[in-house]
Amino acid sequence: MKDLIDILRKTRNLKEEEFAALIRGMSDEDGQYLKENAFQVKQAFYGNKVFTRGLIEFTNYCKNDCYYCGIRKSNTNAVRYRLTFEDIMSCCEQGYELGFRTFVLQGGEDLRFTDEDIEKVCLSIKEKYPDCAITLSIGEKSYESYKRYKEAGADRYLLRHETADDEHYSLLHPGSLKLAERKQCLWNLKELGYQVGTGFMVGSPYQTPECIAKDLTFIKELEPAMVGIGPFLPHHDTPFKEFSKGSYELTLRLIAIIRLMIPNGLIPATTALGTIHPKGREEGISWGANVVMPNLSPVRVRKQYELYDNKICTGDEAAECRACLQRRMLTVGHEIVTAKGDFIPHTFETVEGKEDICTM
Ligand code: SAH
Repeated sequence: MKDLIDILRKTRNLKEEEFAALIRGMSDEDGQYLKENAFQVKQAFYGNKVFTRGLIEFTNYCKNDCYYCGIRKSNTNAVRYRLTFEDIMSCCEQGYELGFRTFVLQGGEDLRFTDEDIEKVCLSIKEKYPDCAITLSIGEKSYESYKRYKEAGADRYLLRHETADDEHYSLLHPGSLKLAERKQCLWNLKELGYQVGTGFMVGSPYQTPECIAKDLTFIKELEPAMVGIGPFLPHHDTPFKEFSKGSYELTLRLIAIIRLMIPNGLIPATTALGTIHPKGREEGISWGANVVMPNLSPVRVRKQYELYDNKICTGDEAAECRACLQRRMLTVGHEIVTAKGDFIPHTFETVEGKEDICTM
């Protein structure tokens, strides 16, 4: 498999069947080789600096019913909450003081928040903190809505495609949700000039190496600025409660593969990775991730944004979270920086007008 890893590093891509073969056939030794390569590429772009984003989970109401998600509409046991405009602004105030220069507003698809509400939040954050980036992660909206948020100051948008295989998508979501529509949202966001993030869960029910190969091929096609992946973790009040969690090792390997595909990409070591293993986020960095996203939501609602069981950091104040992550990053020789951390486009060398050679 080392030959495939070499090609991946050099050309930043593989054929779909090669991705599947790599995922199926990787030995521990190949894994170490992949890790070394991904780490070198990450170091070339980002050195030992890790970007941080302050995550504000501002509503757990959701009109959707995704089978894997703890805040799905049908989960009547979920205790619902919405932050007020003032709550959100005070999270930002606290976050700014702590050194956060990106705020990620994430939530269920909550129609109570109108486009005007989202615009108001974006305009207010930008007015008060013009040196900060705003990332939205509020699901599928119309082109027109995305345009309005952008004009109100939103810079980035996170919308994981979840799986790039149509049949697999239909096994994870009710029939009303369509992969083609989710993908179209991503293309719309790109066209509007957002820095776009996509991603998927590793080890979600019914996922095969072929599904993952499709995910990687889609990611290559989309060329996102950010890719978030984390292991699937079951939630006790969902139809997927009996399924096993995703593989920790495979998640790390996929972080490394994505780093080789997008050398300058912004790749978080996610909360789900920190939940599946106590050193997950640190290891994520060692395998090529370069972003961490601690929680800025008020502690009183933290536990309620429960996408999966045993989610970490639900009891800590924002300041503790940042200090804890700073310490954790130090254990792997990295430091959290106070920076906006925008995606910087990079032109890779081309040979014979065909292959993009990554010389990093
Ligand atoms: N409503 C927004 C935000 C979704 S929550 C949207 O549609 O984009 C953010 C991400 O958490 C999801 O995209 C999904 O990939 C992940 N997630 C949800 N349930 C999960 C679970 N049980 N295990 C692991 N990750 C999960």
